[in-house]
Amino acid sequence: MSHPLSDRINSLPVSATLAMAAKARELKGQGKDIIGLSLGEPDFNTPDFIKVAAIEAINQNYNSYSPVDGYLELKEAICVKFKRDNGLDYKPNQIVVSTGAKQSIANVAQVLLNKGDEVLLPAPYWVSYSAIATLSEATFVEIPSSIDTDFKITPAQLEAAITPKTKMIFFNSPNNPSGTIYSEAEYRALAEVLEKHPQIFILSDEIYEHVNYDTKPFSFAAIESMFDRTITVNGLAKAFAMTGWRVGYIGAPEWIAKACTKMQGQVTSGTNCIAQRAAITAVLAPVEKIQYMVDEFKTRRDIVIGLLREIDGFKVNVPDGAFYVFPDISAFFGKSINGTKINNANDFSLYILENANVATVTGDAFGAPNCIRISYAASEIQIREAIKRIKIALS
Ligand code: GLU
Repeated sequence: MSHPLSDRINSLPVSATLAMAAKARELKGQGKDIIGLSLGEPDFNTPDFIKVAAIEAINQNYNSYSPVDGYLELKEAICVKFKRDNGLDYKPNQIVVSTGAKQSIANVAQVLLNKGDEVLLPAPYWVSYSAIATLSEATFVEIPSSIDTDFKITPAQLEAAITPKTKMIFFNSPNNPSGTIYSEAEYRALAEVLEKHPQIFILSDEIYEHVNYDTKPFSFAAIESMFDRTITVNGLAKAFAMTGWRVGYIGAPEWIAKACTKMQGQVTSGTNCIAQRAAITAVLAPVEKIQYMVDEFKTRRDIVIGLLREIDGFKVNVPDGAFYVFPDISAFFGKSINGTKINNANDFSLYILENANVATVTGDAFGAPNCIRISYAASEIQIREAIKRIKIALS
C-alpha cells in the first residue's frame, strides 16, 4: 500500500552521502569488515579546549533557549573570525547561527527562492544543494566541469548558464566532492560575469575553508561588488572535528539574515545552547590550534593519490583542500569485472562495496557521473588497506 506522503517529500532523493554511510554501518553490523570512505567526517576527536568550553557552559547552567539567531557573544566572535580570516566586515545583526551549515543553506534557499527560479550549481556539487533547491521549488541548473580542468567552471560557462530566471548560484570552494580551490583571480573573473546580472545572489559555502594545503581560499564577499549579494556560509563541523555538534552560520545582508531568523524561529528556534557556547571558543581560537588535523589530511591526500595512481583505469588529479579525492573511473564503464557489468559510477561504487568492502559515494549524486568520491577522513592504515582491496577487486 502506498503511503499518502506529500509531493514535496516524494520529490526529494535520499542524501547519497548519508545513505551510503548508513549502508556501511548496516553491513558492519552484520559482521562485514567494511572500511567507510563515504562520509565527509573528520576521524579526529573534538579538540580538548573546545570540550572544556562546553563542559563549563553546562556547569554554568546554559540550558534555556538561546536567541533564535544565536548568542550575541557568538555572533560577535563570528564577526571577529570573518574579519581575521576573510577580510569581511560583518556586524552581529548580519549573522545567523543555525543547526549546522546544512540548515544555514536551507534557510537561505527558503527565504530567497520562489517556484520557477533557477539556481546554478557548478558541478560537481555537494549532494544536498540540488535537494535543497528542489525543496524550495526552484529548478537547479548544472554547469558541468571535468577532471581535466581540475573541476573548475569558466566565466564563459557561467555566462552561458544564466537566464532571466537565474536567482542564485551555490558556490563551494574548497569544494566537496572535488577538493578544488578557486584562486582569487578565478573568483574575480566569475564576479565580472555576475556584475552584469545584478538579480543573482551568491551563496558561498566556505565550510572547508581551513582544510587547505597550499592555496589559501578566497571569499566571494571579499569582492566589493559582490558583498551585498553574497551569503557567506560556514560552520564548525569540518575544521574543528565537530560534525555532531551541529553549528553552522551565515554572514549576509541584514534583510536576508532577518528573514533566515524568521524562518528558523518557526522551524527549529536557536541552535543547541551548549554547542553555541563551545563555538565561541572554537571560532576565536587561532587557526594554528587545528593545523595538526590539516597536516594529517595533507599526508593522507598524498598517500591516496599515490596509491590510486597505481590502479589502471583511475584518473586522478591533485585536490587542494577538503578531504576528498574524486577520481574519474569512466574507463571501467562498459566493462565486466569478474562477471559484473559496470555501466556507470553507481555500479562501480556498489561493486567496490560488495567486492572490496569499501564504501565510497557515486559521482552521480554530485552531478558528475564519471567519478566516485573517496573520503580520506580515515586513518592511514584504513586508507592503505581500502585501496589495496580496491586494487585487488579490480584486478
Ligand atoms: N557533508 C558531508 C559529506 O558530504 C557529511 C554528510 C552530508 O551531510 O552530506 O559527506
